[in-house]
Amino acid sequence: MVDALLTQDPYVKVALNVPLRATYDYKIPKALAYRHHIRPGMRVKVPFGKGDRHSIGLVIETCSNSDYDDAQIKPITALLDESPILSKELFDLCAWAARYYHHPVGEVFFHALPTSLRKGERPEFRTETWWFLTAEGKATTAESLKNAKQQKAFLEAAQQHEEHGLSPHLLTVLELTTAAAKGLEKKGLVRSEQRNFIKSVETHAHQKQVPPTLNLEQAAATKTILAMRNEFGVALLDGITGSGKTEVFLRVIDALLKEDKQVLVMVPEIGLTPQTLRRFENRFNTDIVLMHSNMTDRERLDAWLMIEQGEAKIIIGTRSSVFIPTANLGLIIIDEEHDASYKQHEGFRYHARDLAIKRAHTQNIPVLLASATPSYESLANALQKRYLWLKLRQRAGDAELPQMERVDLRGQSLKQGFSENTLERMRQTLERKEQVLVFLNRRGYAPTLMCHQCGWIAACDHCDVNLTVHKRANKLHCHHCDSHKALLHTCPECHSTELFTVGEGTEQVEGVLNQLFQHTPVLRIDRDSTQRKSALTQITQKIHEHDQAILVGTQMLAKGHHFPNVTLVVIMDADVGLFSSDFRGMERTAQLITQVAGRAGRSSKRGHVLLQTYHPDHTAIQCLCQQGYEALAMDGLRERQQLSLPPFYHQVIIRAESQREQYAMELLMALRQALSIHLSEDMQIVGPYAAIIVRKAGQHRALLNLKSPQRGNLHSLIAYASNWLELNTKNNRIRFAIDVDPLET
Ligand code: ADP
Ligand code: ZN
Ligand code: ZN
Repeated sequence: MVDALLTQDPYVKVALNVPLRATYDYKIPKALAYRHHIRPGMRVKVPFGKGDRHSIGLVIETCSNSDYDDAQIKPITALLDESPILSKELFDLCAWAARYYHHPVGEVFFHALPTSLRKGERPEFRTETWWFLTAEGKATTAESLKNAKQQKAFLEAAQQHEEHGLSPHLLTVLELTTAAAKGLEKKGLVRSEQRNFIKSVETHAHQKQVPPTLNLEQAAATKTILAMRNEFGVALLDGITGSGKTEVFLRVIDALLKEDKQVLVMVPEIGLTPQTLRRFENRFNTDIVLMHSNMTDRERLDAWLMIEQGEAKIIIGTRSSVFIPTANLGLIIIDEEHDASYKQHEGFRYHARDLAIKRAHTQNIPVLLASATPSYESLANALQKRYLWLKLRQRAGDAELPQMERVDLRGQSLKQGFSENTLERMRQTLERKEQVLVFLNRRGYAPTLMCHQCGWIAACDHCDVNLTVHKRANKLHCHHCDSHKALLHTCPECHSTELFTVGEGTEQVEGVLNQLFQHTPVLRIDRDSTQRKSALTQITQKIHEHDQAILVGTQMLAKGHHFPNVTLVVIMDADVGLFSSDFRGMERTAQLITQVAGRAGRSSKRGHVLLQTYHPDHTAIQCLCQQGYEALAMDGLRERQQLSLPPFYHQVIIRAESQREQYAMELLMALRQALSIHLSEDMQIVGPYAAIIVRKAGQHRALLNLKSPQRGNLHSLIAYASNWLELNTKNNRIRFAIDVDPLET
């Protein structure tokens, strides 16, 4: 303690949860310094802003002096933690991320904390009261309490549950009262104990399954991954859909659990299906903790603590779980590593896969990336031997990869988007009592509402896009800013009532299929049909109940589901990404098509995939059908290299938006000017140019694109740019964002 006092610096730099790149200096009051050793990673309460307002901040650094005059520096009001709330490793990860993504350091640190800790709550479990039988209670017969009915019932129950005790949950189920418990406690027949709430939840109720025998590819992959387990390294498990990647995870996890290590399994935003969770529960006799966006603050904190204290061995989480503190992490698995939801698209725009790799590097543990359609970035790393490339090319068990066929739409008369050919194949499939999956990545009834008399089109008031018609909800909905209004039946321009829709969405296709296949259940899976909490589970249950069925859906269908009786997949519009203005358009479409196609024929029956296209001879469509995703990706990578695009060039996009049309563009033009003298030869600046959808939610958006094959130079330039932007946007209403390694252009 004396030592601590002697070495305690008088000042701290504190990060606050504000969108500013600065930290703030505060004094450590003597009284505090005497009793505590203040270190980076501890939370403090500090005066901030006008009047006597306070904020919660995180100590970033302690310092022996400050650039400010001592008299001007305010003291810390309170210290909230006895020891750092973030481990050194996580602290360093956040600090690194703030630098790498050029994001305000306070927002980064606060993003890493659960909400309740951001608000200053203590990192403690909730406790609850359990009741146990005493020796005296054991020796007492319940009959002797027959005059106190409730106490008698309680004692009986306590005797029955002597081994594990009575949890509050059990009290409710058995209709026992706390009053009775307290009465018995006075008589010395039962005693109470405070237990951590979360530990008392029963999670081991499932029958454990015997794992299948691995095939040769799976066994080899498992062995290789296990051989890497004691140091940093990245393996790319590149396995076709249904090749048994998950089974490989389970084996590797099993081995790590035996060494008492924790495993973090990251999944895409909506990738965690109840089916996946069940597979984990069926296999392991240990607590599995989930971290996702649908949790209450309290649930989140409990999970956080379980993991931090090493109680939970398996953590399954979405993007933000990359910041979870662990006690003894042994491996990070990133399932569907190509998924765009790993990148945060607003605010702190980090990529969870890339941060996970950084984290694993500092903790000297391996990372396993898995996908049937790896991102071009990861494939490039595998090609350059930075990642170990593990391929699974056979389907597990006796399933076979589905056959891809093109359906030429040219000159065909279509029935609401379906060719006669496609419909016939659907009929045949259903007659065999098998299921059909129809994929259309557009929800709603139709993407456009138009007037027959004057050509008016329903557009969003706040964005440069058309409104989508949602017939069942009787609404026009903007899929970009989420605003909606009632569905119109007369034209606001010419008052004609002849309004009609153009194009199809899943809601319309569902209706059409209901008419065409009247005796077959048609089930829709998209964001609209699964809004209610248990809706998805109910729909998947129905799918498993029926032999014949048609599933219609958006990309939600592509993720992780296992529908064993689907043998035909129809891709309604395979041309979507062919002519995209985004250089990632083709990569995304190929991933989606391959993933959706992979839903077909996952059991012993062979699957077929029909790609409806107007461009059956397009090289990309041909390549995908005949050679598959990897061949297409190799072509794509060659092209990216020729065009100096990622992953061969590093890219940073600076986004600006303003309500007034010209402001954002002018700001970026001025920035370009300011940067021009700092450019090194290997750098390119493109723009500023307007975003593809210029106006979104009332903001006009402009972009400046910076590229270089060298990260280092680019980062110094961005550091300069972010200072410049902070200075030059102080007094106007232009917002800017720095997007490092952007996925959207
Ligand atoms: P992926 O994750 O690559 O899509 P899964 O691990 O989900 O593949 O495996 C697909 C199906 O094959 C699952 O039903 C799984 O239980 C089964 N499976 C996996 N490995 C084997 C194996 N070695 N033998 C038999 N069935 C297997
Ligand atoms: Zn009109
Ligand atoms: Zn809008």
